[in-house]
This record gives sequence, structure tokens and C-alpha cells, in this order.
Amino acid sequence: QGRRKVGIIGSGLIGRSFAMIFASGGYKVTLFDLEPDQVSKAKADIQTQLGSLEREGLLRGSLSVQQQFDLITGVTDLATCVKDAFFVLECVPERLDIKRSVWSQVDPLVTDDVILSSSTSALLPSAISEGLRHKDRFVICHPTNPPFYAPLVEVVPSQWTRADVVQTTMELLREVGQVPVLVKKEVAGFVLNRLQFAIMGEAWRLVRDGVISAGDLDKVMSSGLGTRYAFIGPWETAYLNAEGMDSYVERYADMIFDIQKHQESAEKMALGPTLDAIKTDMEAVAGPISDLQTRRQWRDNRLAALAKLKVEM
Ligand code: NAD
Repeated sequence: QGRRKVGIIGSGLIGRSFAMIFASGGYKVTLFDLEPDQVSKAKADIQTQLGSLEREGLLRGSLSVQQQFDLITGVTDLATCVKDAFFVLECVPERLDIKRSVWSQVDPLVTDDVILSSSTSALLPSAISEGLRHKDRFVICHPTNPPFYAPLVEVVPSQWTRADVVQTTMELLREVGQVPVLVKKEVAGFVLNRLQFAIMGEAWRLVRDGVISAGDLDKVMSSGLGTRYAFIGPWETAYLNAEGMDSYVERYADMIFDIQKHQESAEKMALGPTLDAIKTDMEAVAGPISDLQTRRQWRDNRLAALAKLKVEM
């Protein structure tokens, strides 16, 4: 790959994280935002974040903080952002109209060998890219927040995305230290959110039906399932818990299916007694809403420690 420049559109939470991730791999990054003020804020924030990553021993790549920082340039127009970029990543708010408007402006500005990508959490790649001249070069890269500590990226092509675009995107993400997975078909919620919302649906029913408190339900994840899931997923769990997959299914499929039959279909969460019970427990565990920043900092410190452990293993 001759060109070493990535263009990032939208310098919010996700845009600035990706800017750091690509700079850590030695790529030049141009960062654009509709609000010029946001770009300066992003640059200041990136400098702070790079410093704390270094202190935590989590700075990626072989370049110094200053070298990585110097690779990131804030720009004030879209054309400069995408000029000569081989990879353009859009990180603007989660609205189809905004994303489509951004892409219709980018499409005529780029050459035919570019890769176009969006960090959307839930919009489908076909919906964003239909109508683009370069629609076969468009693919979604859905990160996990915070991307530095939770490196998973769901790579989601549409039915018209070229295979080589998908492959190059996966290689690029791996090269800069993320963990890409391929979502082979576009489906609502991709995979991470389908799993997350299946758990949330069951968690809602269990609290609603008085089986467990919300605080204890969270402990089932944080001290039970979650400790395992930080290292192995449900399939490897099954593989290890019996003598491989056939043996797991022979031993446990009946029991699992009996329980699955008791798991109802979706119920929409709403204001009311179940939510009140969850709120009370969350205030006790995580503190009042006025002080969420303290708890977020606590969470991010722990995620950083876990990420460090995983790097050192
Ligand atoms: P954000 O609100 O922090 O940042 C969005 C930025 O885009 C803002 O700086 C805004 O000024 C800018 N912007 C708005 N319109 C623009 C335009 N037309 N051109 C250029 N810039 C424009 O949002 P975020 O959390 O960074 O999310 C960005 C995308 O990433 C969304 O699609 C979101 O769903 C997705 N995402 C977010 C998370 C998360 O946890 N925050 C996780 C995964 C994916």
C-alpha cells in the first residue's frame, strides 16, 4: 500500500479514538469535523489520552507519544480530509440522513481505489451506501467503546461490497491492534448488540418477575459469566466444559432446550416498577446520576487494567 493516509470525518468520541489507533500504526490521519471547535478539542483530548496510555503501559506501536500526536492533523474542510487518503472513515452522529449527506459529498472527491467506511452502530451498510458511485468499496467498521480497551471491530459488508475491500479492511484493523470479526450478512444489530440485547431482555424479565435484584443480576455477569467471557466465548466455554462439542450437546442439549423454552420473546422496556427497582439498585452500586463521571473513570481504569493484562499474557 503506497498511500499511508487515513481521513476521518467526525472528531467526537469514536473519531478521535480511531485517529489515535491509526496514528499508533504510523498512518497519517486527517481529522475533520463540521464544528472546527470540535477538532481542536479532539486534538487536546488525544494528547491527554496518549499521555495516559503511555503511563499505563498501553501505548501501541513503536512511535513515541509526540510522533503519534504529530501524525494527526486537524483540517477544516472535507476535501482536504479525504484527499490522498486510501481509507476514509466516517464517525458522524448515528442518523441515516447525516451519514448519507456526508457520503454524497465524499463520493465525487475520492479515487476508485479508496476504501470507504462508517463506524455506525446499527445502520445497515446497504442503506448508507446505495446510490454511491463507490458503493462496492463501502464497508462498516463498528467499534466497541472504548476502542482502545475493547479492541473488537465488527466489519460488515453489504451485498455489493467487494471481497478485496473487506479483506484489506480486516488486515488494516489487525495491523493497528484491533480485533476485527467479519459479519458475513447485514442483519439488524450486527452481532455484538444482538447478544447484548438478548442478555438485556432476559435480565429485564428476571428482575420484573422478582427472581433476582438488579444489583445481584449484574454480579452474575461481573463475577460469573463475564469473568470467563473476557477470555473465552460461549462456544469455547462449551467445548471446554465437556469433552468437546458433540459431548457437550449429548450431555446438555436437553437441559438447555428445556430452559430456553421458558425464555419469552421480547418485551419493550418501559417506565414503571421494574425500572424503578433497577434504578434504586444502580444508584446504590454506581452512585447518583450527578456523580456518574467518577464511576465512569473507575470503569475505564479497570478496563485499562484488563486490557494491560491481556496484552501481557
Ligand atoms: P459524537 O457525537 O461524539 O461525535 C460526532 C461528531 O460528528 C461531532 O463532533 C459532530 O460535530 C460531528 N459531525 C456532525 N455532523 C457532521 C458532518 N456532517 N460532517 C462532519 N462532522 C460532523 O458521536 P460518537 O459517539 O463519536 O459516534 C459516532 C458514530 O460512531 C455513530 O454512528 C455512533 O453510532 C458510532 N459508535 C459510537 C459508539 C459509542 O459508544 N459512542 C460505539 C460504536 C459506534
